[in-house]
Amino acid sequence: MTDRQENRIYDVVIVGMGPAGAAAAALLGRGGLAVLGFDKDRHPRYKVCGGGLSARVARFLDPEFQSVVEHTVHGVQFVYRGQHPILIESPQPIAYMVMRDRFDHHLLQQAVRAGAEIRNGEAVIDVHQDSDGVEVTTDRGRYRAKVLIGADGANSLVARRLFPQRFMHRGPALESEVPIGNGSHYPGPSTILVDVGAARQGYGWIFPKQHCLSVGVGEFRHKSTSLRKTFDRFVREEPGLTGQTVPRPMGHPIPAFSESGEEESENTRSQFVSGRALLVGDAGHLVDPLFGEGIYYAVRSGQLAAQAILPNVHESPMSLAAYETALNQDIVPDFRITARIARVIYTFPRLGFKLLRRYQDVVQSYYAVLQGHTSPERFLADAKNRLRVSVNDLLLEALRLR
Ligand SMILES: Cc1cc2nc3c(=O)[nH]c(=O)nc-3n(C[C@H](O)[C@H](O)[C@H](O)COP(=O)(O)OP(=O)(O)OC[C@H]3O[C@@H](n4cnc5c(N)ncnc54)[C@H](O)[C@@H]3O)c2cc1C
Repeated sequence: MTDRQENRIYDVVIVGMGPAGAAAAALLGRGGLAVLGFDKDRHPRYKVCGGGLSARVARFLDPEFQSVVEHTVHGVQFVYRGQHPILIESPQPIAYMVMRDRFDHHLLQQAVRAGAEIRNGEAVIDVHQDSDGVEVTTDRGRYRAKVLIGADGANSLVARRLFPQRFMHRGPALESEVPIGNGSHYPGPSTILVDVGAARQGYGWIFPKQHCLSVGVGEFRHKSTSLRKTFDRFVREEPGLTGQTVPRPMGHPIPAFSESGEEESENTRSQFVSGRALLVGDAGHLVDPLFGEGIYYAVRSGQLAAQAILPNVHESPMSLAAYETALNQDIVPDFRITARIARVIYTFPRLGFKLLRRYQDVVQSYYAVLQGHTSPERFLADAKNRLRVSVNDLLLEALRLR
């Protein structure tokens, strides 16, 4: 380590250049701020992830991102422990499939083009803040900035150092990339597979990529003691994987948004902003508790953070409260609804599966959420009208279907 002390004061330092950090860096750079971003890895790098992006992301990314989309998804094949397949389709795209090395590198290049200075392969090892700014220590030097963005993922150092009061529940997930060469995709190049019964408090998935199938299981609401066994059982029970060699899966936590975490915190208003520091993406636990979807929310929260910083960075005293407000308007209400849906489906997965088979039009209307045409709140209200029953009645009906 060279003990290099930089005299320059950046407007913003970003720790972590995944989708959250890169999305923030691109907007801040375009806004004319001096931005310095660090990533401990060198991009392009492999990232353990299903790489499923809900189609609504297209509203917030430059259309060029399509150049790294491997497949466009129009249907979901739901199964219960490998059995009883139901294909529910949409004429419009539901999701885009990406490999994270290519997708993240693409976003990073956009940040560089916007003028951000990026230091790949330089790990941040400590962060401090005082009334004048923030200080970031890496394995190569020390840097100062007016604002710090923690975009350093599920094991965020920034969150541990500057948000010690935060509740940090993270569910486990496992993922393997199964090479298919020129073989055919399963269940199809424009169809993903979701196994509702594969995991406790989560699901199993097969996502099609150009040269492989991304196969994984995740449990978002509880700690798992035997996720490897769950993964092996999913692979064994899934007919589409019969005869395939499935490489050993890799694990990574999924920090799904947790309402109870907020309640346990002493200060429910400071989950994402602490003085001059903000948390975005996985570092802020901004992951949907229903599907474990985090890439879209990483991009969105990175952009919302940038929008809150831009008009305030030169103010004295500086307030970044606008970021917290934006999250509480745009993202947290979604999570409150999807957490309720997740509670029902994951507590009674077999019954949940029977309900989704019976009410396929309701599933289709959830696609409108993933396409950005409606909100989870609106979906739930419409679904209740459509079903004309209360959640309690629904559970009773589900019990009858058992
Ligand atoms: C198995 C699995 C499957 C998933 N599948 C999906 C899916 O299909 N769709 C979806 O939307 N989401 C999925 N997710 C969630 C998704 O991967 C995350 O929500 C998303 O990556 C969050 O982006 P981010 O930018 O916040 O963090 P990350 O993508 O984790 O990026 C953080 C970056 O910070 C860097 N970093 C960390 N610490 C430091 C440090 N000290 N100094 C410098 N750099 C640092 C890391 O190298 C990394 O590049 C999945 C997660 C898992 C584990």
